[in-house]
Order: sequence, then C-alpha cells, then structure tokens
Amino acid sequence: MEVITVSELARKMNLKASELIGKLMEMGMMVTINQQIDAETAEILASEYNCNVKIVSLYDETLIETEKDNDEDLRERPPIVTVMGHVDHGKTKLLDAIRSTNVVAGEFGGITQHIGAYKVKVRDHEVVFLDTPGHEAFTLMRARGAQITDIVILVVAANDGVMPQTIEAIHHAKEAKVPIIVAVNKVDLADANIDRVKQQLSEYDLIPEAWGGSTLFCEISALKKTGIDSLLETVLLQAELLELKANYTCRAEGKVIESKVDHGRGIVSTVIVQRGTLRVGDAFVAGVYPGKVRALFNDKGEKIDEAPPATPVEILGFTGIPDAGSPFQVTETERQARQVGAKRQELEKQGEAQNVKKITLDNLYDSI
Ligand code: GDP
Ligand code: MG
Repeated sequence: MEVITVSELARKMNLKASELIGKLMEMGMMVTINQQIDAETAEILASEYNCNVKIVSLYDETLIETEKDNDEDLRERPPIVTVMGHVDHGKTKLLDAIRSTNVVAGEFGGITQHIGAYKVKVRDHEVVFLDTPGHEAFTLMRARGAQITDIVILVVAANDGVMPQTIEAIHHAKEAKVPIIVAVNKVDLADANIDRVKQQLSEYDLIPEAWGGSTLFCEISALKKTGIDSLLETVLLQAELLELKANYTCRAEGKVIESKVDHGRGIVSTVIVQRGTLRVGDAFVAGVYPGKVRALFNDKGEKIDEAPPATPVEILGFTGIPDAGSPFQVTETERQARQVGAKRQELEKQGEAQNVKKITLDNLYDSI
C-alpha cells in the first residue's frame, strides 16, 4: 500500500504541516510530522482542501519482482541495533566502548574510514550497530518507509534522568514498534540516581522486570567500560525473542544508510543488506539509480566478495548518489536495472512537475 508522510503531503499541497496535523486531529487522528499516512487518508485529507492527489510509489513492486521465501531458505540473522537518547547522555561513548572492546586487538586503530555501521562479535553471535547520529537518521529513514532497526538501545544518563530527547526517542521506537533496551549510563558518577531513571521511565511504560514489567534494563558506564558485556548479552537475549531470520540465497535487497562522493573512488554508498547475499558483479538499482557492484568493503575497510544479510557494506559502482533510506535491490540483469532506474526517474520528474503546476493553479491540482 502506498503511503506518504504528513510533511511530504503538506509540501505537495503547499500547506504548513501543522495545518494538516490539525485537520487530521479534527478527523480523529493523532499524527506527528514524520508519520506516514496511507493513500486513502491522504486523498480524503486533500479533498478537504479541494485538492486531488494520487499517491504513486517510486518503488512499485511490479517493477522488480521480490523473490519469495520458502521456510527452508530462512536462517537466523544478526540483529540491527540503533542507539538513541538525549544529547550528552553517552551514545557516542557507548558505541566507541562497544567497538573498542569487541574488535580484535590492534584492529580498532586500523579502522581509518568511518562507515556509519559496524558488526561486533558477542560470543559466537554477531550484532550490527548503526552508528548514525540517532534521531535525525532514524526519523529520516522512517519517513522514507525504511525501517531497518530491530532493537533500540535507549541511553539515559543516571545523573540527568529522562530528558526531552529521551522522550522523543521512546516515541520513535514505539511508533516503529521496535523493542527498547534501556542502558542507564554514567553509573560511575557520584550523583547517579538509577532508581529515579527507572521511576521516570515507568511513566512511559518502560518498567523493569524487577518491578513487574518487561523492559530490559542495564546499568553501564560507557566511560569506564563497565556493564558493556552484559548489555550486549541483553541485546542477544532480546534478539532471540524476536527470532530474526533472513533468506541468504535470494537476490540481495537492503537500504542505503549514507552516500558520499570520495575523491578517487567516486560515489560510495553504505548499504545494509537485509536479505539475500550481495556479490561483486551484481546489477542493482538504488533509489532511482541503476548500477553494478564494482567493489565491496566491510566495516573495517577490507575488500570482500560477498555480503550476507544484516551486513553493512560499502559499495562502489553507482551512477548517481542515492538518498539515505532508499531501497537497494539487485536485479536479474543490468538491462532490468537500467529500465527500472529510468522508470523511477520518470516518476520522480512527474512528481516534481506537479509541484510546479500546483503553485500556478493555486492549490487546485491534479496529480498523475
Ligand atoms: P552523546 O551526545 O549522547 O553522543 O554523548 P557522548 O558520548 O558524546 O558523551 C557526552 C559526555 O559524557 C562526554 O564528555 C563523555 O565523556 C561523557 N560520558 C559518556 N559516558 C559516560 C559515563 O559512563 N560516565 C561519565 N562519567 N561520563 C560519561
Ligand atoms: Mg554523540
């Protein structure tokens, strides 16, 4: 089903998002600016303003047929984890602590380029961390319908307690139906008050097991690197409950996490593979751009030949710079990649043309 975010629809209709949010509230729907509404709701909403809209997805499923999963194709895959929390509560420090305690000695210093996502080993399991600047990236991805996170680690500083961005993170995770593990950080500080954090979070339905709830809590110090192992064990426990599985044999599909233009290497995108196995030589379409995998690099900057599900991978071989959150799909042939890319570019142009028309016709416009 086609969807559109409130902010995107407002932009298309030349209205303020707050206006649409107000109207939706009158219609009995509580939404946030980056929330998606379905096509039918969008059409009803638009008709309130004498607008006609038709939501057409750039990523029409009929353009690329998705390979079906048979039960026997499905195997366990690593969880993909995002760290969120209020500014200065220790997200970056935690990601650093995890990275430095869980890579082979000497390897850490060797990580020169930063790829925005990395894999760590916990006993004989793997866990993928998205090293994104939290909220914006999460919101952006969600706005594009690209949900990639399986688990959110909510970092709350024990001396500071629940703050506005803590609450925002809780809302994001709940809206996306992603389970939250609470990491109460900075427990090394003299003014740390762990009970107060638990008390405050209880108001948001995040209740520790010891208090009769079902939320997993960990007490850590990202600075002193204490409690990190137990936090990772908790992530594995949560992942087990989710029974995360993926097809390892089909054509690869995933999402673009970030893109950049690198001197010498050209366009480089970090993609997280969600199903299938990506290989050098595969033809693909990323967002509206076709391409062919020229080279793959893992999170340590090493050249690799293939990337199975839940692997963050840097890819060379793009013909354009895909946006974060764009779908990445391997196609059967290069020809198909080019055709799908061209079709999507055409749809995108039409969408932009409508924006121009909309202004000249003063709010009354017809989409495709
Ligand atoms: P972020 O904004 O959430 O990414 O927070 P940072 O990771 O940048 O941490 C903010 C500040 O808190 C830095 O000065 C860190 O050194 C400090 N910090 C992070 N974790 C801890 C901790 O466990 N204990 C103490 N005492 N300080 C910490
Ligand atoms: Mg940070």
